[in-house]
Amino acid sequence: MSAEPRINVMKPWLGQEEIDAVAAAISSGWVAQGPRVAAFEAAFAEAMEAEHAVATSNCTTALHLALVVAGVGPGADVIVPSFSFIATANAPTYVGANPVFADVDATTGNVTAETVRLALTPKTRAVIVVDQGGIPVDLDPIRGLCDPLGIVVIEDAACGAGSTYRGRPVGAGADIAAWSFHPRKLLTTGEGGMLTTAHADWAERARRLREHAMSVSAADRQASLLAPAEEYLEIGFNFRMTDVQAAIGLVQLGRLPQIVARRRELVARYVKMLDGVPGLRPVRDPAWGTSNFQSFWLEVQGDFPLDRDGAMLALAEAGISARRGIMAAHRQPAYTNRPGAWLPITERLTDATLILPVYHEMTDREQDRVVDALLRAAETTAARQTAEVIA
Ligand SMILES: *Cc1c(COP(=O)(O)O)cnc(C)c1O
Repeated sequence: MSAEPRINVMKPWLGQEEIDAVAAAISSGWVAQGPRVAAFEAAFAEAMEAEHAVATSNCTTALHLALVVAGVGPGADVIVPSFSFIATANAPTYVGANPVFADVDATTGNVTAETVRLALTPKTRAVIVVDQGGIPVDLDPIRGLCDPLGIVVIEDAACGAGSTYRGRPVGAGADIAAWSFHPRKLLTTGEGGMLTTAHADWAERARRLREHAMSVSAADRQASLLAPAEEYLEIGFNFRMTDVQAAIGLVQLGRLPQIVARRRELVARYVKMLDGVPGLRPVRDPAWGTSNFQSFWLEVQGDFPLDRDGAMLALAEAGISARRGIMAAHRQPAYTNRPGAWLPITERLTDATLILPVYHEMTDREQDRVVDALLRAAETTAARQTAEVIA
């Protein structure tokens, strides 16, 4: 093990401003969902060019609500990439629908109009597209396929805050989008999520459903001395965000442009240092947008002396915690009892990709350590393999 300090794959950028904002929220006496959540929703909607934003407890609950308000229910098929965090596939099952796995494009790791088309069934009611690792999905051709068929396109933009698609924030072109503020993402509230949509009626229903489907919000009841009687209009949920979280989110949202700029600078530096190394293919911006590089991944190919797991081990021995690339949901025990899906690109990418550390406060020196460890391990292995051939 290295004597140098450990380098983690991600580290949230939090400071005194967040501490002060939390202290102010607590001093106000309002710690559950209240005025700070409303302010965070307004600021987030503006930043993401969304008509409406509804804060939730996390992105998984935002995806769940998105399916409910889009009218997706029991018996429906919902196309999802297997190549995503498990929550993308789980969301349809919460509403009694059936996730149908689509393969992804090898360059971006995202579903395409073609892979979605191959997964269509007569029961397809929705598609959940993902901006995987922050790489913007090519949404327009997918909407071109789905809109005439009446299939709702939901964007899982959990990783996407700060990424752009055709000059606008990702999510702005979907019927409905879901966002995550988990610390593994760029902008964090500890736990937290958001649903954005252009449909006023969907936003209104989501706002009610996240709060037990109460006809009067808790904030409105609290604001009046003689609280109006509430009614429960349907079976709702408790998917609320707290004002303590929203206070952090408001500060974090202000930091987002800086966070994205620094991540893109670090990634450009990685790409430059790894350029020309045979067998390493870094993920890049696609032609149609820019990535926030929430996850900067490399595909470790056959002509690299180490395989993916070997590369991860070499990094760990140097005190660097990289990550296996994006998981494949269809291989998890929760989903292996389903009919086998033909997902060759998903399987290749999930087996051969490696996520390198990138975080706002990462220094050039720390980044050099990551690259040195990877390239030195490759050299040593290559030299040993050559020696074995000669012997
Ligand atoms: C992180 C993530 C989620 C889940 O987000 P939570 O806020 O933790 O519920 C969903 N989808 C994708 C693609 C993610 O990366």
